[in-house]
Amino acid sequence: MGSDHDCVFCLIVSGHISSEILYRDDHCIVIKDIAPKAPVHLLVIPTQHFTELTSLQSELYQVVGSMICRAGRMARDAQVEESGYRLVINQGMDSGQEIDHLHVHLLAGRPLRAMG
Ligand code: AMP
Repeated sequence: MGSDHDCVFCLIVSGHISSEILYRDDHCIVIKDIAPKAPVHLLVIPTQHFTELTSLQSELYQVVGSMICRAGRMARDAQVEESGYRLVINQGMDSGQEIDHLHVHLLAGRPLRAMG
């Protein structure tokens, strides 16, 4: 756990890569996706480096729960709560996951295509 010196998201959390941080607390940060797939595309990123949901110890369940809650609050702040939004966690090759540091995508601002 902790941080990984080769991980882009760890480097953003530590400030070694600059990024506009929209929100930060002890558990997570929120940034804008660098290549947005929707008018609103935010990433909720845990401050600790972990990768697989299945490897999480129970003490980290609170972190994941707070990331989901934070995503909902960011949706409310972005005024897309009524129009709707989608939360996505990619895991592994078939999902198209690019960055090996758990994160939640918040997508909104236009009708989103069917999943799959
Ligand atoms: P995933 O495919 O779930 O691993 O998503 C990784 C996301 O991180 C992609 O949507 C990228 O566009 C985004 N991303 C990569 N590098 C950065 C960066 N430096 N700042 C913000 N978003 C990034």
